[in-house]
Amino acid sequence: MNNAARDDASIEELDFGGSARGANFDDFLEDDDESPRNGGRAGNGKRRSPGKIAFIIVLVIALLAGSGVGGYWLWENRLRPITVSVNGAVTRTHINVSIDDLMNDNDSFGTKPGNLLSVSNKVLDANGGGKQAVVVNGATVKASDWQNTRLQPDAVVTVTNGKDTVEKHTVKRETIAHKGPSLDSVNLMGGGAIQYVESPGRDGYSEKWTGEISKETVDKGVVKKPEDFKVTTKTPQPKDGKKYIALTFDDGPSEYTAQYQQILKEKGVKATFFNLSEEAANYGEQEKSLAEDGHEIASHSVSHKYLPKLSRDELRNEIGKSFGVIEKNSGQSCRMFRSPYGAFTAQQWLDSYDIISSNVLWTIDTEDWKRPGADKIKSTVLSQAGNGSIVLMHDGGGDRSQDVEALPGIIDGLKAEGFTFVTVSEMIRLDGTFPEWVANNQPAK
Ligand SMILES: [Zn+2]
Repeated sequence: MNNAARDDASIEELDFGGSARGANFDDFLEDDDESPRNGGRAGNGKRRSPGKIAFIIVLVIALLAGSGVGGYWLWENRLRPITVSVNGAVTRTHINVSIDDLMNDNDSFGTKPGNLLSVSNKVLDANGGGKQAVVVNGATVKASDWQNTRLQPDAVVTVTNGKDTVEKHTVKRETIAHKGPSLDSVNLMGGGAIQYVESPGRDGYSEKWTGEISKETVDKGVVKKPEDFKVTTKTPQPKDGKKYIALTFDDGPSEYTAQYQQILKEKGVKATFFNLSEEAANYGEQEKSLAEDGHEIASHSVSHKYLPKLSRDELRNEIGKSFGVIEKNSGQSCRMFRSPYGAFTAQQWLDSYDIISSNVLWTIDTEDWKRPGADKIKSTVLSQAGNGSIVLMHDGGGDRSQDVEALPGIIDGLKAEGFTFVTVSEMIRLDGTFPEWVANNQPAK
């Protein structure tokens, strides 16, 4: 067997790592003399062959080179001096320093952890609160990551005092009841175009805390205030810099509605129709077709009664049934309402707040029902139009030929002034400040 070849094979099996290195070398030497494979030379003493000497030289060179490589690695990855910025000051340290070591080497840069406080804010442990806040190159590093977060040259570090924390404690809550719906809870005085439930009413609570360490009990008072039931009004006001307007048509559908629909289609305008169920009974297909064109269908009650004269049950029938008709005809799930004559007092709100999302009034009354002439209807709209305007017109309830005549000019005039046409629901959503249930066309909850 060729010694050199066997040596090469043995070198490959050597483990140069860690403490095993010496042991393997000894094994190698013993193996050389006693191996059965070398039986023919067993009695020849310990004469070293040239191959073995060459191997040892190579090994020594390798070890020296290895320590050189190791030293270089240490220098490049742990020892090399660098500077970092800490709280604006240049700080000398070494490459890949951990935040833990940097803090320990620099007395935490004069910062300290927060206090651990009792429930009555006495200091229980001056360093027992939150650890310091450390930010590296704009990113917060949690205390649990300080050990394995290593810094590179020119890292920008800020270190600030830790926050105080309160001892573990038990909490005893007492409910504070809210005020439910009452005539006093409905305030329509603001006169906004949209009446809606601002708050459906939620209980609040007070708390008493008992500390696990201090054993103190402290009354924290009212932690969450109760929110009383509240109805209010507001006119939508989109604030994205554009001008929005909503055209609304009441008392239909009627024999005229198809003409409105045709004009709106030609002009590419979406509008809102507050329909009467009694009229929809004759024009169900018309209601469906409007919805298919993307118009909003909302309720104007079943039969246009003066609602303040109705009992609670009668009122809820007038409103509730009308939503069912719209849903059946148009497929639109609707809870938006417009009271006939705009008549809707605090009592009507108390009787129906749980079935409507809003009572929609208007900001521009064309008084088209007086039939003042197409030009007058048009000039009323154009002279009063502003961002958030809701225009009241009619597509039912009598001779609507003046509206049909006025509508194209109204749309063209508003377009010329830069208005974008939206439905009432879109206007409410564009405003962005109405409660979620109003924007989603649902009763308050
Ligand atoms: Zn009406």
